Amino acid sequence: MSIQLALPDSLWAATAVPGPATSPLTESLTTDAVIVGAGFSGLRTALELAKAGVSVCVVDAGDIGWGASGRNGGQVNPIGHETPATIAKRWSLPLQHEQVQRYVDFTISSANGLFDLVREHNIDCDAEQNGWIRAAHGKAVLPQFEKMFEGWQATGTPIRMLDPSQLEQMSGTSAYKVGWVADHGGSVQPLSYARGLARAALNAGAKIFTHSKVNSMERRGDSWRLHCATGDITANTVVLCTNGYTDQLFKGLRETVVPVVSIQGATQPLSQGQLDSILPQRHTFADTRRVIFYFRKTADNRLVFGSAGSNPNNPGAADKQRLITGLRTVFPQHPDLNIEYLWGGRIAVTRDHLPHINELAPGVVTGLGCNGRGVAMATAMGKQLATWVLQRDGAELGVPVSPLLPFPLHQFHRIGVRTTVWWSALRDQFEARQS
Ligand SMILES: Cc1cc2nc3c(=O)[nH]c(=O)nc-3n(C[C@H](O)[C@H](O)[C@H](O)COP(=O)(O)OP(=O)(O)OC[C@H]3O[C@@H](n4cnc5c(N)ncnc54)[C@H](O)[C@@H]3O)c2cc1C
Repeated sequence: MSIQLALPDSLWAATAVPGPATSPLTESLTTDAVIVGAGFSGLRTALELAKAGVSVCVVDAGDIGWGASGRNGGQVNPIGHETPATIAKRWSLPLQHEQVQRYVDFTISSANGLFDLVREHNIDCDAEQNGWIRAAHGKAVLPQFEKMFEGWQATGTPIRMLDPSQLEQMSGTSAYKVGWVADHGGSVQPLSYARGLARAALNAGAKIFTHSKVNSMERRGDSWRLHCATGDITANTVVLCTNGYTDQLFKGLRETVVPVVSIQGATQPLSQGQLDSILPQRHTFADTRRVIFYFRKTADNRLVFGSAGSNPNNPGAADKQRLITGLRTVFPQHPDLNIEYLWGGRIAVTRDHLPHINELAPGVVTGLGCNGRGVAMATAMGKQLATWVLQRDGAELGVPVSPLLPFPLHQFHRIGVRTTVWWSALRDQFEARQS
């Protein structure tokens, strides 16, 4: 029996284009490659492999986009959490080293790559490339904020500083004094985008099985057999794209990511006055709080506002209150903004805040850990994974193939995340008051 995992009751589920018809796996299949996870990473991998003539199946425990891909803010934010210099230092490489430069290209081309893909496959997902604003929440973070700006600007990334009046006009809030805009950022309706990617992969020849949790996998000679409740798949290559939903399927992988809960609230449709003042040019927006505030407008003219939360499947009153507090902090002039839809999901955070590709065993690869920036980057990750499958070589990839990097004391991650979020929110508040 397959367990039906329902999509959360989100604005995205209420407004997405219909998905392609799929069903659970009910047979024994043999294929070249099998991908676990029907989110952006898995679907993009499948699309690229199918286009290259590889026979490929995707299996997901839920529906297409059931994980973070159908639940996120839909912000196409093409810069990670570290500067190129910090990344080079972490890898003990000079900044000009080709591996660092490949990673920089992977990052900054990820947004244009997504919008190109949307156009190429005619994906109906309210895609808008109007730019992404990032703003500092207090003076204390300015040195790091400026370092990020300078580090990425030096790579040729199209970002520019805004003066305070521009920032206020473009965001619709005076809560921030320093910010920059990345002109290549934008937004999508994420569930529609995931469904469109799935349709493109199916059209290219991939198969997709939903409501088919992979319970175990075992080596059989040169190939692998993956077992679901009502069927199994044998393949030479396995790609694990399970991100923040990674379970015990492959020993040791779960310990390399900490699932952090992010929540989203969609307001009622905005009044004309609100529409004219909040993000009038339809940018996306994220701040530097450790417990981030991020928001964007939707095709039906709501504001979707996000932050960290506590319950990924059924956020409750405390999570809703966190978003209301965020809305009142950022938009005190709009006290009537309320939350009509509330939902959450899991982000995969890695120990070094960078995405990882790991070769887990002969023929088994994983790519995960976009640390909350996976709309553009998980899409780009899928292409990297497909390249690995086609070449069986990671030497030229933007994300280097690295050994597993587990979190120490991973079994205590829940309490660790809860304490960190609580303490970080206090620091954010204090810093915002000092501005
Ligand atoms: C609330 C929220 C807001 C976010 N906002 C943004 C944003 O605005 N911008 C941005 O860039 N990023 C954002 N992110 C992050 C982004 O959504 C993710 O980085 C991205 O979707 C990851 O895609 P993925 O394909 O790697 O993983 P997922 O979409 O999480 O997919 C993993 C899939 O693996 C499946 N799976 C796991 N184990 C098994 C198994 N054993 N058998 C079968 N299937 C399995 C799960 O069912 C799931 O569908 C947000 C995330 C959340 C949760």
